[in-house]
Amino acid sequence: MTATIIDGKEIAKKKKQEIANEVEKLKAEGIVPGLAVILVGDNQASRTYVNSKQRACKELGMHSVQIEYPESLTEEELLGKIAELNQDDTIHGILVQLPLPKAINETRVIEAISPEKDVDGFHPVNIGRMITGQDAFISCTPFGILVMLKEAGIEIAGKHAVVVGRSNIVGKPVGQLLLNENATVTYCHSRTKDLEKHTLEADIIVAAVGRAGFITERHVKPGAVVIDVGINRNEAGKLCGDVAFEEAKEKAGFITPVPGGVGPMTITMLMFNTLKSARNHLNKLQSS
Ligand code: NDP
Repeated sequence: MTATIIDGKEIAKKKKQEIANEVEKLKAEGIVPGLAVILVGDNQASRTYVNSKQRACKELGMHSVQIEYPESLTEEELLGKIAELNQDDTIHGILVQLPLPKAINETRVIEAISPEKDVDGFHPVNIGRMITGQDAFISCTPFGILVMLKEAGIEIAGKHAVVVGRSNIVGKPVGQLLLNENATVTYCHSRTKDLEKHTLEADIIVAAVGRAGFITERHVKPGAVVIDVGINRNEAGKLCGDVAFEEAKEKAGFITPVPGGVGPMTITMLMFNTLKSARNHLNKLQSS
């Protein structure tokens, strides 16, 4: 039996409509959600991501500011700009596009963003809040995966989730979110012995490895849910995920495609976080 495709584009479209409606409500209350995106240097992939974030803001009626600096920007100058944006009441979300030039310390930059405006969810305060089950900004790709699973009607509690990959931006937080939803979680990584043994036990596999077609049908238990986070190019230059889609879909119960799966959810959740931050700001104003 062929797997049901989880259509990230459709789910993102629905979520964006809900966000746009909420933006209208906030505007009626006198506040326009605002996102500042900082781009340092001239990395083409980063520029593409930043442009699509700007486009999404426009589409949903949000205020957006794009701040561009040359590669030669100093860490002090960047920290100064962040301090200014932290104080700016028209900006509710601050995002510094990574990677930064080598001369700038990424950890210091992330920690300089006010946790209240950290819509990327990378600040240790938000990571700590997420781990302890408190209200937090959750980083956008893991958050998008969780929303997709819920929208597809997939039960998480009591299921065995195997996350392949343990990066700070995808693998670790997605496993933690699934744990918060009462899944039993196994993390696999480059030092894991006998990967197949683990993935074959999974009700839910999340592949966040960064290798084209790494997860094959051999790794998939019949009927399992397969979430493909990877964004890779194959030898032909075609965009593809970490899962060998054509063969895995013959065994899985549900599967996400690349493109059109997790990707569209990531920017949508950034918009959600910016909206949430603006709502928090308004609530604070109203209660003071
Ligand atoms: P990283 O390179 O930071 O992490 C890759 C992880 O895969 C590491 O934990 C590594 O293990 C693990 N790994 C590598 N080789 C193996 C192996 N042979 N067996 C098991 N595990 C292995 O990547 P990211 O987490 O940043 O990204 C993963 C993928 O997701 C990439 O393709 C990226 O482009 C994509 N991505 C997609 C996003 C989206 O919006 N859809 C957003 C962010 C990323 P170890 O820790 O031991 O080195």
